[in-house]
Amino acid sequence: MSFQTDTIHAGVGPDKAYGAIMTPIYQSSTFVFEDIGKTRGFDYTRSGNPTRKALEDNIAALEGCSCAVAVTTGMAAIATVMHLFSHGDEIICTDDCYGGTARLLKTIQEHFDIRIHFISLVDPSGIEAHINEKTKAIWIETPSNPLLNLIDVEAVTAIARQHGLLSIVDNTFLSPYNQQPFKLGADIVVHSTTKYLNGHSDVVGGAVLSNSPEIDEKLKFLVNTLGTCAQPFDCWLVLRGIKTLVPRMKEHERNAKLVAAFLDAHPKVSHVYYPGLESHPQHELAKKQQRGFGGMVSFEVDGGIDEVNKILKGTKLFALAESLGGVESLIEHPATMSHASMGAEHRAAAGINDGVIRLSIGIEDPDDLIADLAQALA
Ligand SMILES: *Cc1c(COP(=O)(O)O)cnc(C)c1O
Repeated sequence: MSFQTDTIHAGVGPDKAYGAIMTPIYQSSTFVFEDIGKTRGFDYTRSGNPTRKALEDNIAALEGCSCAVAVTTGMAAIATVMHLFSHGDEIICTDDCYGGTARLLKTIQEHFDIRIHFISLVDPSGIEAHINEKTKAIWIETPSNPLLNLIDVEAVTAIARQHGLLSIVDNTFLSPYNQQPFKLGADIVVHSTTKYLNGHSDVVGGAVLSNSPEIDEKLKFLVNTLGTCAQPFDCWLVLRGIKTLVPRMKEHERNAKLVAAFLDAHPKVSHVYYPGLESHPQHELAKKQQRGFGGMVSFEVDGGIDEVNKILKGTKLFALAESLGGVESLIEHPATMSHASMGAEHRAAAGINDGVIRLSIGIEDPDDLIADLAQALA
């Protein structure tokens, strides 16, 4: 089936008990055995739950892979993946990753002696200098947050394969509609389903996806062992959100293009970060590896923190809040909000200065969004 049909139908059969068209919420911790050692497919919700399975089968179909595990948050997805590694291993990670990812990887480095090399992956030719016999994986996040730098996924996964490393892609920013990392050579994909997949800012969730029997088994083992599994009601909400993923992503992108063009022409804006702009240095790569350009736009203004503050407080429709990917538009300040946990030094190295403002473009009428930014900038 096509991607759009799969968003609505994959993993979702008519309910076997009563024929309900929508997946029931199996809000049950345990399931009755029919005989010793004989269940109807589920025994205990940490190990498996029918509502969670529907979501997992759905997301696996969208990413085009063999296995998905649905977990409590995006961070739980990343923490689960980190349990594939052990003491002494080394991991290469893109330096302008999500702030929470940087914090988790630094914590793991401190507590478990897993060394993390934060480097720019924008130029893949610099990667090999950081690979040694202890290196186990390359962590890719593209487009990056908040500067919308792209990583050439095919080029980086080829280097990983050559050296026997796992390549892991955080695909949260584009969703599987706009980018399909397994087709570009990834071994593992993670999502914060909190963002575009759910799309309605009413749940936190995550998913880890894989496409080989060996990794599939390890991930299922880890979710059951660590207890990072998502709850049935949360799974139901995400499953419901995904049904409108395609029309939402189209609207996010239409609006993001219009907002980016408006900001690009505004005299107070010194820089706009959006891969859909022809002036973006990696516009061609975006066209090559993505179906679309997504709904995230960042920009910079001159005038320092005071000017930034005026804009953040000046918008009426854009709400000043972290997170992204919901139907409503948000504005935020990476240096003090989403990327505060990264630390000033790491932010400076990644080029995230205090003048950067990040927008998550919702699906409101674009004229209203532009009018709101125009009055806040005035
Ligand atoms: C939000 C986000 C995460 C973390 O997800 P949570 O659901 O908030 O735990 C990880 N990666 C990226 C790219 C994100 O945007």
